[in-house]
Amino acid sequence: MQQRKIGLNTICTHVGEVKDEQFKGAISPLYMSSSYAFEDVDVKRYPRYFNTPNQEALCKKIAALENTEAGLIFGSGMAAITTSLMAFLRAGDHIVLQQVLYGGTYNLVVEEFEKFGIEYSFTEGWQAEDFEKEIRSNTKVIYIETPSNPLLTITDLDAISKLAKKHNLVSMIDNTFASPVNQNPIDFGIDVVMHSATKYMGGHSDILAGAVASSEENIHRIFGLAKNFGGSLSDYTVWLLERSLKTMGLRVKAQNINAQHMAEYLEGNEAVTKVYYPGLKSHPEHELAKAQMKGFGGMLSFELHEDYDANQFQKELQLIKSSMSLAGVESTVLSPTKTSHSLLSAEERAKQGIADGLIRFSVGIEEPEDLIADIEQALKKVRSGNIVATS
Ligand SMILES: *Cc1c(COP(=O)(O)O)cnc(C)c1O
Repeated sequence: MQQRKIGLNTICTHVGEVKDEQFKGAISPLYMSSSYAFEDVDVKRYPRYFNTPNQEALCKKIAALENTEAGLIFGSGMAAITTSLMAFLRAGDHIVLQQVLYGGTYNLVVEEFEKFGIEYSFTEGWQAEDFEKEIRSNTKVIYIETPSNPLLTITDLDAISKLAKKHNLVSMIDNTFASPVNQNPIDFGIDVVMHSATKYMGGHSDILAGAVASSEENIHRIFGLAKNFGGSLSDYTVWLLERSLKTMGLRVKAQNINAQHMAEYLEGNEAVTKVYYPGLKSHPEHELAKAQMKGFGGMLSFELHEDYDANQFQKELQLIKSSMSLAGVESTVLSPTKTSHSLLSAEERAKQGIADGLIRFSVGIEEPEDLIADIEQALKKVRSGNIVATS
């Protein structure tokens, strides 16, 4: 009999629960044991084997959320990314990566790959033809990020998966910015989907975790390295992440609505010269985003007119915090020039289109009118000739 497919919020709430057989409690009990019996058991359990009861259950939820067979969870997004990459690359292989990448992934590649004998190329643009140009006879993996950080460029998932299949390559995506609520790359034929679960999956800026979703076969291969590399996460964090995921659908859909609202408000504000958000008709890849995303996400970026001091603006915000990370229920802003892209030279940043005054905005779940009021009061203070010193 074919199983009826269940919807997003039902997956979020129920898939991957640990049943409380003993007390019949409503939620998953937490098993913190780091030592389990080894005789007369089906599975030898150990936290670093990624197979405690809470880990196993949560992996089922991750797989269901990305509409695939299997998942694995890690102590950080970078642990998930590193382990997944290394599972498909060996000395002598080559990988093509998107030009604009999360800073940590970029550092991993340029600081570590050479010593493992792994060759790499970065693309010029972010579409399939840019990747095809870089493919060599020893290329094994194509690595993308869409929407990208911080300019929210959109890469064609279908075209990338066809390109990968044509050249017999493994396609991998960092799906953190979209979250599984807004984008399921496996449905478009992408092979391996990775998340920093620190972001939308966690959603409350209080846990560090990573996740990978793919076929049984690929996850088995990644697990082979994972148990040797280490990088599993504490069961307490697993339990918190399961709890966070119950509300992910609700949170992210609210963030989609707020981000669209804020993007439209900013686009209509004379203090703002540019807004980058895939939900805006003015976004060059708006149609593509519409075709492959279920929602446009909670992240946007914007530039202020030169009459407004972008740094001072961020300091004057009262409700919206300046913060390094993203995707919490609270709204935050940061300056990519000072954080994620500070290691690039001014020319490299300019080449990637990252202006010094660019502000990245992670839109939370607050009432949009309160966010707008905060922006209005800060803009008033930082219009040139009108800058108020803060003590
Ligand atoms: C934060 C982030 C990562 C790294 O995740 P950690 O949990 O910090 O290790 C990777 N990719 C993207 C897009 C991110 O935003």
